[in-house]
Amino acid sequence: MAEKEKNKKLKSELYSVTPEGLNRKANFCPKCGAGVFMANHKNRLTCGKCGYTEMKTQK
Ligand SMILES: [Zn+2]
Repeated sequence: MAEKEKNKKLKSELYSVTPEGLNRKANFCPKCGAGVFMANHKNRLTCGKCGYTEMKTQK
């Protein structure tokens, strides 16, 4: 019944999620704490301060 409406909504939600917004969440080093940004690589994040590396788990 509201199939079209649903699709429309899903799409607009996808567009509103920018890579920047996604990265911002996981870009802080869990060891150094919030405030220390991690370098964003293709498939991982690394902390330049303590060397912590976090693999990105993507679909
Ligand atoms: Zn760190």
